[in-house]
Amino acid sequence: MNPPPFSPSPALLERAVALAGTPVYLYDEATIIDRCRRVRAMPNAFGLRVAYAMKANSNRAILQLVTGQGLGIDASSLNEVRRARLAGVADQRIMLTTQEVPEGDDREELEQLMAAGLEYNVCSLRQLELLARSATTEQCAISIRVNPGVGTGESRTRNTGDKYSSFGIHLDALPEVVRRARAHRMPIVEVHTHIGSGGAPELWQSNIDRVLTIVEQFFPEATTVNLGGGFRVARMPDESSADITALGRYAERRFSEFSARTGRKLKMAVEPGTYLVANAGVIVSRVLDKKSSGPDGFDFLILDAGMETNTRPLLYGSRHPFSVVARDGRVLSDEFALPSQALLPQVVVGRCCETGDCQTLDEQHTVIPRRMAEPEIGDYVVIGGAGAYCSSMSLTGYNSHRQAPELLVRPDGSLVTIRERQSLAQLVMNERSLPEPA
Ligand SMILES: *Cc1c(COP(=O)(O)O)cnc(C)c1O
Repeated sequence: MNPPPFSPSPALLERAVALAGTPVYLYDEATIIDRCRRVRAMPNAFGLRVAYAMKANSNRAILQLVTGQGLGIDASSLNEVRRARLAGVADQRIMLTTQEVPEGDDREELEQLMAAGLEYNVCSLRQLELLARSATTEQCAISIRVNPGVGTGESRTRNTGDKYSSFGIHLDALPEVVRRARAHRMPIVEVHTHIGSGGAPELWQSNIDRVLTIVEQFFPEATTVNLGGGFRVARMPDESSADITALGRYAERRFSEFSARTGRKLKMAVEPGTYLVANAGVIVSRVLDKKSSGPDGFDFLILDAGMETNTRPLLYGSRHPFSVVARDGRVLSDEFALPSQALLPQVVVGRCCETGDCQTLDEQHTVIPRRMAEPEIGDYVVIGGAGAYCSSMSLTGYNSHRQAPELLVRPDGSLVTIRERQSLAQLVMNERSLPEPA
């Protein structure tokens, strides 16, 4: 039931490499549009608002693409808001959910943006107090991010809904928040939770009940319940994606029951990042070298795309599927499409001076070889499931590797550059030499 991931044909691969070299991020517009439509079609009781969590992939063209599909933008920082605006996104379609507490000029800018329609999701008591003090946002309607105390993530570090996580306003503080918002005459019209990324769909579902209980208990003026993002996406063939239609059906039922009980018709909002772009992108890399660490060791493939291009294996132990494509276009192995039993277990590493620069690690940083065809030096390794949190989370500057370019395949098959490869001059642009001795 997992919707098919984008996988470039050998001909497309050849065109992409001819245009931009390797390593390169390659995204598929049709897949992104398909995922936008799937989320917008989620069942719901009284209306659905969908925003794209832009930290998943903040390229301007991607923002234009998803907002063109009717989605809003979920921004995680003031700079993300600025980037969305540079992409042409209207202020009224942006919601800011941030750990930042903007001061000074940033504060003024934020207040102007709010006056122009930006929705601010209050994530702490301090944020609420600063908001209450400003003249332009006086008595404005607000959203509150609640930490419901139970979260779920694909790894421990991606659970954002329990006591180990600093996100949102924890349950203990809710009575105080409600009291202060009332004192400042700021109606809380939206209640927001985002309990983690890629966690168990059952917990995403039970969070709906938790939030509705919280809304009933604390937020009589709320008209929208924002359930955040975090839909699990299968990148590997043995993983499974969240069934967002089933989640929507469950929400529809619960929101309807809530309405029957309270007379309140709550609108639902979701803000996925991963779901919309993860399987719409790949990294095309080239095999630079091959080595072995002996009969008791491993066979290594050294690629020109490593931890600086895709940090997720090192950070989370995430697995991405590999396909091996010969220079002449023959697909030698494809972890997604073909069984790989007979193939050689290999360890895929990058070119950084760092043992952790390895694409085949588990969450404990243990090296786990993967079965794939043995390529020749110069052949391609395509890293799948790389549309979310790869480019946007890349390590810029380490070992002075330049940021890889990004290409987009349009629905008509044409290929456009949506980011050029960083130049060496850009890499050192902001550095200054020591002053001349006096
Ligand atoms: C990161 C984030 C999301 C998106 O998470 P995904 O796992 O990429 O879907 C949504 N909302 C907020 C507030 C976030 O921080």
